[in-house]
Amino acid sequence: MAEEVKKRNYRREYGTSVWHWCKNCEDFPSSNYTIRHFSPKYGDLCPKCNELQEAGSCDES
Ligand SMILES: [Zn+2]
Repeated sequence: MAEEVKKRNYRREYGTSVWHWCKNCEDFPSSNYTIRHFSPKYGDLCPKCNELQEAGSCDES
């Protein structure tokens, strides 16, 4: 009955307001980023990561 909590590593590059969670996203930050483990309240979720997710090809971080 317990609902699975979706834990992800969201990365946001400093100076941007977009959170990424697919390592294969072309904009996934590799340096100069901050991490959150739950749905961020600030900023936007990356539409490209979302596309990868919906296509089932997101390499989750
Ligand atoms: Zn992304």
